[in-house]
Amino acid sequence: MKLSIAHNVPLADLTTFHIGGEAKEFVEVRSESELSEAIEYAKSNDLPVVILGGGSNVLVSDKGVTGLVVKISILGIGVVEKTDSVLVRAGAGEVFDSLVRQTVEAGWWGLENLSSIPGLVGATPVQNVGAYGVEVADLIDEVKVYDLKDSVYKILTAAECDFGYRDSLFKKTSGRYIVTEVVYRLKKVGDPNIKYADLKNLFGDDNPTLLQVREAVITIRSKKFPDWSMVGTAGSFFKNPIIEKSLAEALSRKYETMPMYDTENGLVKIPLGFVLDKVLHLKGYENDKVSTFKNQALVIVAKRGAKASEVEVFANDIADRVLVETGISIEWEVTKIS
Ligand code: NAP
Repeated sequence: MKLSIAHNVPLADLTTFHIGGEAKEFVEVRSESELSEAIEYAKSNDLPVVILGGGSNVLVSDKGVTGLVVKISILGIGVVEKTDSVLVRAGAGEVFDSLVRQTVEAGWWGLENLSSIPGLVGATPVQNVGAYGVEVADLIDEVKVYDLKDSVYKILTAAECDFGYRDSLFKKTSGRYIVTEVVYRLKKVGDPNIKYADLKNLFGDDNPTLLQVREAVITIRSKKFPDWSMVGTAGSFFKNPIIEKSLAEALSRKYETMPMYDTENGLVKIPLGFVLDKVLHLKGYENDKVSTFKNQALVIVAKRGAKASEVEVFANDIADRVLVETGISIEWEVTKIS
């Protein structure tokens, strides 16, 4: 065993919430062979494996984690050029926004609307990260994973990843797969995707360059999201709900200005930020150390010293208010780790 396993490692500062207890056992892996070793160790010691990437979408329990926490730091970026497209292979531990910047600088289209999203490459297929009309499901060619059930590495096609809105096979079978590498298919020639209002308002009829789209997204997000280096947060805490048409129609009669977006399967997507802000007036709502962000109520912010239990109570309170007022049952986008 070459890997050194650390004990009683504080996890709070390995997450952007800066909340939570210790990992009973902890290891950082930099290659697939190290990951295999870590898994062997966990199996022989009968420990559940808990994966940690950039820690930007998790809430660690105050009691910490009793299993083996494996921090994925597998790096490496490789490129295969095709006639019209480029296959970009990235290790799960690469910083996603750094990858986006590099692809934009290289002139490859696809990831630019996903600028400024925190976290690592390995998390992108798990929650099918998306923003401004683009989601990684549109761009992923294949994903390499370790399958803890069959104890082998596998390459999954995009279809096999079973992507949905902020959802995937990896979420549906939580704990089974560990992403080690993602291959994105980008275009050598492309068109800017500026159909979302924030970008449309900015560019109007202009035809922005790749770099202009990236810079615009960075500017827009910097106004809506807090400075991650200053406060504890995991960004958007809840998913935007997708609801039955009948409920959407009832809500649009009650709240005439509520934006609604039809989805491909006949359901309707509701911007939860609107519900929290304009319907429930919860923008900046505060309970001791936990609050919603003053510029975007979908974002929960925690002061230093806040407990995971306080965030949970706060989030459940918000979810209850949404349910009572609108009949919509909302879900966490953030994953709880314990
Ligand atoms: P926003 O742009 O105000 O959008 C709010 C909601 O309305 C989202 O559900 C968005 O869908 C939907 N929407 C807006 N314009 C739309 C259009 N033209 N067609 C279809 N749906 C439309 O949201 P925001 O909170 O300021 O966030 C900005 C972007 O970052 C959004 O796309 C949001 O989803 C994304 N984001 C993603 C994550 C993540 O992947 N974990 C976290 C934070 C924010 P979509 O959600 O499908 O875009």
